[in-house]
Amino acid sequence: MAASIINGKAVAKDVRAEVAGEVQEFTKAYGYPPGLAVIIVGDDPASRVYVSSKKKMCESLGIHSEEYAMPGSTSQEELIATIRRLNQDPKIHGILVQLPLPRHLDEGEVLETIDPRKDVDGFHPISVGNFVVGKEAFVPCTPMGIMRLIKETGIEIKGKRAVVVGRSNIVGKPIAMLLLSEHATVTICHSRTVDLPKVCREADILVAAIGRPEMLDGSYIKPGAVVIDVGVNEIGKTEEGKRILVGDVKFDEAAEIASHITPVPGGVGPMTIAMLMRSTMDAAWRAARKRGCECGCKS
Ligand code: NDP
Repeated sequence: MAASIINGKAVAKDVRAEVAGEVQEFTKAYGYPPGLAVIIVGDDPASRVYVSSKKKMCESLGIHSEEYAMPGSTSQEELIATIRRLNQDPKIHGILVQLPLPRHLDEGEVLETIDPRKDVDGFHPISVGNFVVGKEAFVPCTPMGIMRLIKETGIEIKGKRAVVVGRSNIVGKPIAMLLLSEHATVTICHSRTVDLPKVCREADILVAAIGRPEMLDGSYIKPGAVVIDVGVNEIGKTEEGKRILVGDVKFDEAAEIASHITPVPGGVGPMTIAMLMRSTMDAAWRAARKRGCECGCKS
């Protein structure tokens, strides 16, 4: 294998250590810790696992966390009222609504109710707009984690040709914007792209966020490219009932050609929650800074 493996677990550990240090600093300075509220509606087992790991991660870093587990029958009004209350709560700096929501709820209205200053998931249209015009804004956690992984390789992003396969609001579009903001020349591909292998072979940085098991084989990879595989695809279970996961990239083939590559699992996956902690910390600093200014200090 020619490529270096980008170890997402190790990088996520570094991010957590950085955040833990800042949490201590913040708590010492202000007398209370950063706070994250996570709202979950219904009993989707996968969502429950995500929410519980977010809670555990908060606890391990010293971030105050509140979980609002609401029944699947929760009305739009009840959910909106909970968010509005959290918007006003000074102990809470970040609010996250676990998706997907039950079908009777209006996801767009729910996400737009979150105060953009607490929108640590970066899904509010105001966050998206601010980000696109280059103003301070929260950015979805997975793309933020991807950028950190690319930077860990030490390659210069400026001037590179980047190709993103996938145009979702959660991964494809924001990672393309982040790469653009670092001066890459960016192409976004999707299911209607003509001659996808040819476009991908032009990429110095290739990000696959498709959701199709091992779709990008060696014929999509430019020699020496940095390959980031966001895909998480379950292709079966082991005899012990453990999920067998593969990415969107045919790892063994791509690793022979690329310079750096993320594995699945253990690449992008571990970064997402770590970056959520990062964003919660940032939200707390911003809130404290703003209060400082309002009270007349020089910060
Ligand atoms: P979406 O389903 O929202 O988007 C998939 C994108 O892939 C779409 O833009 C679609 O194009 C494109 N696509 C589908 N088929 C093809 C094809 N044959 N050729 C080219 N493009 C294609 O997925 P997400 O962005 O939410 O997630 C993508 C993957 O990343 C999934 O495997 C998901 O599980 C994983 N993921 C991992 C995370 C993590 O590790 N923490 C977090 C989020 C996602 P079109 O728009 O034309 O339909």
